[in-house]
Amino acid sequence: MTFEISDHDLLGRIGKLKTKQGFVETPLFLPVVNPLKQVLSPQEMVVDFKCQAIITNAYLLKKNFQEEVKTKGIHDFLNFNRTVMTDSGAYQILMYGQVNTSPEEIIQFEEEIDTDIAVILDIPTGWKTTRERAEYTVKETIRRARLTFNLLTRKDILWVGPIQGGNHLDLIAHSAVELGKMPFQIYALGSPTQVMERYLFNFLVDMIMTAKKNLPLEKPLHLFGAGHPFMFSFAVALGCDIFDSAAYAIYAREGKYLTNYGTIKLKDLKYFPCSCTVCSRFTPKELQTIAPKERIRLLTWHNLNTCFIEIKRIKQAIREGRLWELLEIRARNHPHLFSAFMKFKGYQEYIESFTPISKMKGFLYFDSMGLARPEVLRYRKKLRAWSPPTKSEILVLLPQPNAKPFHRSREYKKVKELIIKEIGDDILNIDFCFYSAPFGITPLELDEVYPLSQFEMSIPLDMKTIEYIVERIQDYIMRHGLKYKHILLHPNFIFGKRIIDVCKKTCQVLGIDFQTSTKEKRIWSKKAVEDLIKKIVDSKKIKFNGINKKY
Ligand SMILES: [Zn+2]
Repeated sequence: MTFEISDHDLLGRIGKLKTKQGFVETPLFLPVVNPLKQVLSPQEMVVDFKCQAIITNAYLLKKNFQEEVKTKGIHDFLNFNRTVMTDSGAYQILMYGQVNTSPEEIIQFEEEIDTDIAVILDIPTGWKTTRERAEYTVKETIRRARLTFNLLTRKDILWVGPIQGGNHLDLIAHSAVELGKMPFQIYALGSPTQVMERYLFNFLVDMIMTAKKNLPLEKPLHLFGAGHPFMFSFAVALGCDIFDSAAYAIYAREGKYLTNYGTIKLKDLKYFPCSCTVCSRFTPKELQTIAPKERIRLLTWHNLNTCFIEIKRIKQAIREGRLWELLEIRARNHPHLFSAFMKFKGYQEYIESFTPISKMKGFLYFDSMGLARPEVLRYRKKLRAWSPPTKSEILVLLPQPNAKPFHRSREYKKVKELIIKEIGDDILNIDFCFYSAPFGITPLELDEVYPLSQFEMSIPLDMKTIEYIVERIQDYIMRHGLKYKHILLHPNFIFGKRIIDVCKKTCQVLGIDFQTSTKEKRIWSKKAVEDLIKKIVDSKKIKFNGINKKY
């Protein structure tokens, strides 16, 4: 098996997985195809959506079409010459308690029908099962997984190891560790269907992260029954490479219309918020009057289109390094997704270790939700290890100018020019730092390092962001303040008095002279800048130390 990753962001990755039918690109969405009641044929999915792969159920095929599928092979049977994954009947065990087959029979059948990706017949834990039952399902699934490799007669099928454990995270961890030792080509997280039906997305975050942390990272991870497209971005950001969903078809049968921000009943819609061929041709009222069979078909088509579009949006977000921004948008689509986002933030240390050092594009900062993003955490750690390169007497704290990198801004250039005019090379005895959202504080020497100049932010800042910036400034003064005789703050009044009070108090603790430069509200006005220069000149204590540094 080959699985090559070409792009990544957070734990999400774009990769190429080789199956015996060719390459498929991940994140890969597999529409569930139910041969007993399929409305859209797999062939239509290829033509209309360039569908690369589908998933169907080996147990149902065995029960209903055994000889035909064996004779024709799964690809001819479904008239689909691309990658086919077969689930094993575990979902039917979950629903009906048992299935009329054995793990050995299912393995043999999956080989006989020539599937490309096959799942062993595991025992799903389900949701809210007793500890005893959950332990049994994990133990039995591990036993069946071990058995698999003695039964295989072919080497060209990718086998999937399903992780069980339900809501018992320690059992998920144990299951992942044990299955991770076996030579499965793909791993899958079982039983989240019920979690998703109840919209327990925050618990799903814990389940996926627990599995992910205990599995071999180079192998793809599949999420069973991913459900609604509005949570696909979370599944991908948590490291799921493949997922399947039958929601597009089930919801259509129930008269439900999928959007990437939620589900709406067709009868409640006055306008279609979509321009696919179905939504362009009909109004919701017209669609309701169409005969049920055709209506379901059209609704299925729209729902499936919504799923595929969301996947493309996610892939493009990974390419641009803006998966975090997409999560922030999706988190606002439902309170339970917001809870999942808050839970996701709790794993920021782990997520940060997978996020690229630099990206194609800068990022967008909207509010304090963005403070947990990996770039902010990484910079905080980096700044902790950094110290001012030279010995200066004055530290000047400037608010963020209007252009980036800050040292090339018109505002900073003007300040520099006026200082040099007054004190010449003694400017070398001054250190400059900029304070801004979301990084808190940026020494002049670092302002070109990614992503300190590669972001856009919204104004005014929210209270939590302001508090974060104030904390970072305080931390910086505590770490480096004793190197200076004077600290001068050019105050930005969008922070209120908070920033002045904290700087003053911190300098008092350290015994350093602290002053603010001006009382002007327009901080880059001629008067405000003149006040700043005057304060610097007034200090009179500046001595050229002869060290050549950037300014
Ligand atoms: Zn549509």
